[in-house]
Amino acid sequence: MESWGDVERREFLSWLARGTFGAAVAGGALGAGRPAAAAPDITVLVRATVIDGTGQPPARNSTVVLSGDRILAVGQHPEVPRLSGVRVVDLDGKYVIPGLWDLHAHSTFFESTIALLHVVHGVTGIRDMWGVPETHDLRRRVEAGEVLGPRLVIASTVIDGPGSPWPDVDLVRTEAEARAAVHRAKDGGADFVKVYSFLSPECYAAIADESGKVGLPFAGHVPARVPVQVAVERGQHTHEHLYNLFTSTSHNAEELYAQLTAMPDDPTDPNWWGLQLHRIEREAVATHDPARAEALFTRMVERGIWQSPTLFVERQMSLSPETILGDPVVQDRLRYIPISLRAIWLARMRVRPPRTPQEVAELLRFGDARLRLLNAMHEAGVGIVAGTDAGYTYVFPGFALHDELALLVRAGLSPMAALQSATRDAAQCLGRAHETGTIAVGKQADLVVLEADPLADITNTRRIHAVITRGRYLGPQDRTRMLAEIEAAASEPDEAPTATPDSCCHP
Ligand SMILES: [Zn+2]
Ligand SMILES: [Zn+2]
Repeated sequence: MESWGDVERREFLSWLARGTFGAAVAGGALGAGRPAAAAPDITVLVRATVIDGTGQPPARNSTVVLSGDRILAVGQHPEVPRLSGVRVVDLDGKYVIPGLWDLHAHSTFFESTIALLHVVHGVTGIRDMWGVPETHDLRRRVEAGEVLGPRLVIASTVIDGPGSPWPDVDLVRTEAEARAAVHRAKDGGADFVKVYSFLSPECYAAIADESGKVGLPFAGHVPARVPVQVAVERGQHTHEHLYNLFTSTSHNAEELYAQLTAMPDDPTDPNWWGLQLHRIEREAVATHDPARAEALFTRMVERGIWQSPTLFVERQMSLSPETILGDPVVQDRLRYIPISLRAIWLARMRVRPPRTPQEVAELLRFGDARLRLLNAMHEAGVGIVAGTDAGYTYVFPGFALHDELALLVRAGLSPMAALQSATRDAAQCLGRAHETGTIAVGKQADLVVLEADPLADITNTRRIHAVITRGRYLGPQDRTRMLAEIEAAASEPDEAPTATPDSCCHP
């Protein structure tokens, strides 16, 4: 390996000092004061337009200096000296944004396909909503630098109640079982406890209480029989899919929850409450009470509760199965999905009843009401984070995050706010704002280089020139090669681990 002596180090530090980087640079990061060391792994991005994620306007002709997995400096500079170990990349005309986070993803354990699809599309961090041992194993190997993959925040197994549509959940019927499930989550190394729609209010309260005792956040679906106001007071950290919001903000809310509670509790009963909840939620749009919504949103802000609306998957699942299966975009993207997962997706789609055009139109109208509600939440100051349900049926990892950003803008967020939902705000939601989410000195070296301005048109986030993950620069040729490798791996029959939960309960 080339050695970096005091001369090179001094020249580089002197160059850094001549720039207007606006922040002191620690010479220690470059091994100053030590004898000649191996050449550092430094990448200098020059002439870029930087959109740093803080909300500041784009900074033209900027330089970003990366040292290993850290951002060493950001600002303006004179010409870079030619030194061993220093790679200079000219990004004239390009836009640099922070690496994107998808805060609602599944099935990341397919490491040579799903995990890489995120990275190649600029999604350098994800929150996996159903942790299994394979997910933790992948995280260990990604952190050790053995394999390429997104940074991972990992949920527990889904904890749910009787009637759950998923066979592999941690099913709880009593408060004692609910508390025990929280301990299993803690012992399994989960970053947070994942709650789901079919939990009883009593079990949910026990999970909230026990999570606090073991020091884990809890997040996921607000259970169908728990008003959102109650979930906010209990401190459920993120609420997924905008579920239950119309029921909870109806001026008939108390009556609607009383109806749900009065319905049979037996999932085999044709009048089981679980079969009625989507209808009740849709009908509640007609009795929406904006003042009640405003009060709820204010309380969400005060309590630091986040919403992950997953607009794209809800919209897609409003369509008839044959529409989804016949979509040429869906067909084209399938080649990147492991064949075992393709089979699961297809089987799920085959058991969905077809929808009449009237039913689809009704669901899409409901989707529009959800967009309006989301915009009201955003304007009230509630934190919105981008999540996709990637890995769930026909939601393509990596691709979907860009679809989600476009829908957030369609809902009324500015392109900057949409971008922040997957960068600065995602980091804040995860408690990781000190290390990710914006382009700032000392933060992790995760960046996306775009061909065009995402603030002029949010769909420009799809026009990726390069991805930088943990300081590793993946340029156009690297990305093309990676996509070919993902496609090849997807057709291998052995990609499926033993457990393949990937789930949700969209209408
Ligand atoms: Zn999900
Ligand atoms: Zn879900």
